[in-house]
Amino acid sequence: MTQAEPIIVAKDVEKHFGSFQALRGVSLTVQPREVVVIIGPSGSGKSTFIRTLNALDPHDHGAITVDGIPLDGQRHLDEIRREVGMVFQSFNLFPHLTVLENITLAPTRVRKQSQADAEQRALELLRRVGIEEQAHKYPAQLSGGQQQRVAIARALAMDPKVMLFDEPTSALDPEMIKEVLDVMKELARSGMTMLVVTHEMGFAREVADRILFFDRGQIVEDTTPEAFYNHPQHERAQAFLSKIL
Ligand code: ADP
Ligand code: MG
Repeated sequence: MTQAEPIIVAKDVEKHFGSFQALRGVSLTVQPREVVVIIGPSGSGKSTFIRTLNALDPHDHGAITVDGIPLDGQRHLDEIRREVGMVFQSFNLFPHLTVLENITLAPTRVRKQSQADAEQRALELLRRVGIEEQAHKYPAQLSGGQQQRVAIARALAMDPKVMLFDEPTSALDPEMIKEVLDVMKELARSGMTMLVVTHEMGFAREVADRILFFDRGQIVEDTTPEAFYNHPQHERAQAFLSKIL
């Protein structure tokens, strides 16, 4: 065998919301250390797809395995959630907990780390994302960019094998976008496997190994950033790029 075991395998995944079909047969294999950027029009199923990958939304047809663990109903839910870190557009920090408490909560409760060990690790992660000095503040006392960096540190504290990002910079003021993208670039360079829904083209060109273009619940293009931005094949991708460029 020349390749490592894939970390994510999705086969023919479908998802319905009532009579509406949000995912229409999505198949994808992601290798360890790959950085995959997902783009596409609003409503094309990007969020729905990455939410199925850590079972935030169950899929209703097809198969997903993460690091060899099948995602089938409730059975492996805790295991999967430990393997997959997720960062949302809206930060989703616990407002009544300090930065440090936000980061240590899951490692102490789920991973049964001691408070001292979890705090030491949390401080290391805060240093890594450049906001060690904010450890004892509450989320509302931080800027959006700082809150998003806390959210990244919190996800990393569980030592995930994969990180999923859903438009992590879309809610940020322009001057804060870079500080979050810089953290994500460092993470990518460190070898983290990442799936990132973003329209930040600079980021995609610099760090993505692959671009997936979603349209109406399907992946209609799966290619390199170079090929995607210079010669999009699909007519919907061409139309989309002409609007955002
Ligand atoms: P994207 O992230 O690409 O903008 P989404 O995955 O959020 O798109 O949504 C895909 C489609 O599924 C949209 O038409 C959306 O309205 C629909 N959808 C998403 N979540 C739900 C839900 N919980 N209930 C009903 N429809 C939903
Ligand atoms: Mg979305």
